[in-house]
Amino acid sequence: MRKLLGTTTEYAIRYLEGLDTRKVAPTEAAIANLTEFDEPLPDESVDPKLVLQLLDKVGSPASMAMAGSRFFGMVTGGSLPVALAANWLAAAWDQNSVLYRVTPGTAFIEQVALRWLLDILHLPAQCGGAFVTGATMANFTALAAARHAILQQEGWNVEAEGLFGAPPITVAVSEEAHPSLFKALGLLGLGRNRVVKIPVDRQGRMRPEAIPFLTHPAIICTQVGNVNTGACDPVGEICDRAKVMGAWVHVDGAFGLWASAAPSLAHLTAGVEKADSWATDAHKWLNVPHDCGLAFVRDAHALQAAMAITADYLPTLSNQRNPSDYTPELSRRARGVEVWAVLRSLGRSGLADLIERTCRHARHFAKELKAAGYKILNDVELNQVLVSFGDAQTTNRIIADLQAEGTCWCGGTVWQGQTAMRICVSSWATTDADVEKSLAVMLRVAEKYCSCELEAA
Ligand SMILES: *Cc1c(COP(=O)(O)O)cnc(C)c1O
Repeated sequence: MRKLLGTTTEYAIRYLEGLDTRKVAPTEAAIANLTEFDEPLPDESVDPKLVLQLLDKVGSPASMAMAGSRFFGMVTGGSLPVALAANWLAAAWDQNSVLYRVTPGTAFIEQVALRWLLDILHLPAQCGGAFVTGATMANFTALAAARHAILQQEGWNVEAEGLFGAPPITVAVSEEAHPSLFKALGLLGLGRNRVVKIPVDRQGRMRPEAIPFLTHPAIICTQVGNVNTGACDPVGEICDRAKVMGAWVHVDGAFGLWASAAPSLAHLTAGVEKADSWATDAHKWLNVPHDCGLAFVRDAHALQAAMAITADYLPTLSNQRNPSDYTPELSRRARGVEVWAVLRSLGRSGLADLIERTCRHARHFAKELKAAGYKILNDVELNQVLVSFGDAQTTNRIIADLQAEGTCWCGGTVWQGQTAMRICVSSWATTDADVEKSLAVMLRVAEKYCSCELEAA
């Protein structure tokens, strides 16, 4: 056991140390080698050492270097070393973190982590919270609490009776809501399409004055951190309007909510604390390993009513928090351990620096690309940059060439009808030098096409 785990640690360290000098995307050859995994299910046991050897030899090169410092393709941070190390230790503990009386250690650590999160995100201290797999499930979890609370106000117990015959709920979402929010609504029986769509401005922010009067029971789903532009809905203003209607306000802040933890950016999320529920991700900007999402609900009882179960065989009674009273899952790993470790290690100032630093990198990308004559399609207030290199075909070619070149990795998107390259900066590991190195390649690749076009003209 000692030897296997020691060797695997060495594989992991070597992998991480090699990220700086390899291409960000796996090579065609590395992907072709994946067929080595495609063998008939073995009848006989083999030495675990050989299993890990194969994983490292074939699996490691076939990975996308998301843990490295120049992956800008999604809003995924890498893993801070302290987070990865805590993840390893917690995996060794292998706690099924369901109930305080069974796994007091991880239940307690998660409780502290939740308290710290509410503090650092400036959310109400009385919130109930849940560690889930990601923002999709965090949206689901928070909206389940919303569904409970607003139907209870109508005298309807949705957990017991379901939605058949229930008072219909009006759900308002912005035209720019993340697709995963619609999925969460679908899972909850609220319908992906059965929504009122609220128009947005040019940055993708919901326009509060465009929200019609919604009769109770109603939920308004807002967003801080548009996945393309980084723009944040004016949640405070929306909450003021919602209060008049008695509507529940939910905030999808998968990455944007972390702006609250950075003094120079907190104005972007001003007023979010007036909402009723929030979803965010720790595996995005907090730089913990996948997967880790977070749901917070002001009315902790509503969350508990939506999620808690009891069973004779489970010691559910406790004067301490049972994690499973707040989550869709019963059995689950203690994701909160990594979150606790990052917050304990970075502190307020370290987290503010991580958030501000990545935004500074994004602004630098935008400034230099603009100076070179390319069009930045968004106001770069957060960590997202949308750049157009001309028409859709040119932009897409440049993205493909850049991905193949391998120094950095960015994806494409279409923003309000315009094709763009999307640069997301969310990793703790990205340095000024990484940004310069990536910019140099972006400009070199782009110039090739843009000068061709000039010659052709
Ligand atoms: C990433 C993201 C999600 C989905 O989060 P997962 O962790 O992938 O489930 C939802 N909403 C927004 C705004 C996001 O950026």
